[in-house]
Amino acid sequence: MADRITGAERTIPCEGLFIAIGLIPENGPFADLAELNGYGYFASGEDCLTRTPGVYVAGDCRSKAIRQLTTACADGAVAALAACRYVNERK
Ligand SMILES: Cc1cc2nc3c(=O)[nH]c(=O)nc-3n(C[C@H](O)[C@H](O)[C@H](O)COP(=O)(O)OP(=O)(O)OC[C@H]3O[C@@H](n4cnc5c(N)ncnc54)[C@H](O)[C@@H]3O)c2cc1C
Repeated sequence: MADRITGAERTIPCEGLFIAIGLIPENGPFADLAELNGYGYFASGEDCLTRTPGVYVAGDCRSKAIRQLTTACADGAVAALAACRYVNERK
């Protein structure tokens, strides 16, 4: 392994390796429906709304401070209830 700043190399003895080099959202195909921020995440708030009525975003795909299972599940509940309201208002 090489230090990116100093260039110094060293060996770390181990039996396994998990490589995590970042995440890139693949939201581009939906950009017409929901605005993207500069990082490619859906620019939606805690209400999970998009600029398109009836279209909601939830979980890691949207702009947020903390990407965890709990925040993704919370988004799912918020988006699902908003979708229910949307459908009920059109009955
Ligand atoms: C290495 C790692 C460790 C983590 N550890 C933790 C932890 O310890 N605790 C914690 O709370 N959170 C952890 N997280 C974060 C957590 O996994 C995410 O916040 C959570 O899974 C987000 O849920 P999601 O439903 O938004 O997205 P995902 O769980 O990523 O689900 C998206 C789904 O959409 C599918 N999909 C993608 N593109 C398409 C397509 N074009 N068509 C159909 N399906 C598609 C994918 O296959 C996937 O099944 C970790 C994440 C990583 C990467």
